[in-house]
Amino acid sequence: MSAELNTVNTQTRQCGSCTACCDGWLNAEIFGQKVTAGRPCRYSTSAGCSVYADRPQYPCRDFVCGWIRSDSTLPDWMRPSECGAIVFLWFDWQGQKVINAVPVGEKIPERTLDWLKAHAQEQGRPLIFTERIIEGDKFAGSSCLGFGPPGFRKQVEQLKLAHQQAELLQMFSSLKD
Ligand code: SF4
Ligand code: SF4
Repeated sequence: MSAELNTVNTQTRQCGSCTACCDGWLNAEIFGQKVTAGRPCRYSTSAGCSVYADRPQYPCRDFVCGWIRSDSTLPDWMRPSECGAIVFLWFDWQGQKVINAVPVGEKIPERTLDWLKAHAQEQGRPLIFTERIIEGDKFAGSSCLGFGPPGFRKQVEQLKLAHQQAELLQMFSSLKD
């Protein structure tokens, strides 16, 4: 998550002005405060984290988005603040890590989503992505969609139908890959 100097370990990429993972687009709880869509972390500033030295281990120190990883397969233009999505690998489905994409805002922009779908196909990985539900001018929830093999899409649908969306969202809020 965005650092004081926006530098992450020995990665070649830097967060720069991106604060996407601190701004509520991933669910988290920071020092007892729920961080969720529309409710950024209170310590997130345009200059980075105001409590950087004291930020919690989990999720702040543990989380590294897929764009900034040293082994990232995402292109430069997919910095989350620019492409409109935070992307990371998470749970296994039939032996493959699933690509997770969470919008920075309401929806993942079309260009980014198209790229992710093509990338998922190339890599033979399933993709799961989120769209947020807005009621009035407020975020009122999220919907998860699957892309990839029919069996995977069916499983995502079943989870939704079984009202286990919270479980899916929990996957997104679990920031480890
Ligand atoms: S989403 Fe990625 S690039 Fe943006 S602040 Fe978080 S770790 Fe850095
Ligand atoms: S405490 Fe700092 S690193 Fe953690 S979410 Fe808040 S702004 Fe980001």
